[in-house]
Amino acid sequence: MCVFCKIINGEIPSFKIYETEDLVAFLDISQATKGHTLIVPKKHFENLLALDEETLKKISVAQKEVANILSKKLGTSAFNFVNNCGSVAGQSVMHVHFHVIPRYENDDFKMHIVEHEPNFEELAKLHKEITE
Ligand code: AMP
Repeated sequence: MCVFCKIINGEIPSFKIYETEDLVAFLDISQATKGHTLIVPKKHFENLLALDEETLKKISVAQKEVANILSKKLGTSAFNFVNNCGSVAGQSVMHVHFHVIPRYENDDFKMHIVEHEPNFEELAKLHKEITE
């Protein structure tokens, strides 16, 4: 059984801050920033691509509700909502989960999206590859 299924079954402890019939949100054991929380469906799905639409919609609502709780209690209105889908993308627990990461002035959290000069010829080729 995976580590998040064990948390959901109560076999290992967690610090829950939010729960519905279908999902649970608990503090990430390794706090990227103060209040870093994971939203996890109670049913085991490997990743976002395996999720059914209904659960995905409920997770979207929960993202906003969890962010509102954290915002009220921790005094920030800035967040990154992150989902790592697949091990190449950094997913280490193979039970789908969504990170809610509160952001603060001068925190040390880094999103590694490297900016490049736009190449419109390449963009046009890529657009064709994806849409045709
Ligand atoms: P990811 O790398 O996107 O798969 O994220 C997995 C996250 O789960 C990491 O940020 C871990 O710190 C977190 N994590 C792993 N085990 C536990 C646990 N027992 N309780 C809370 N968070 C955990």
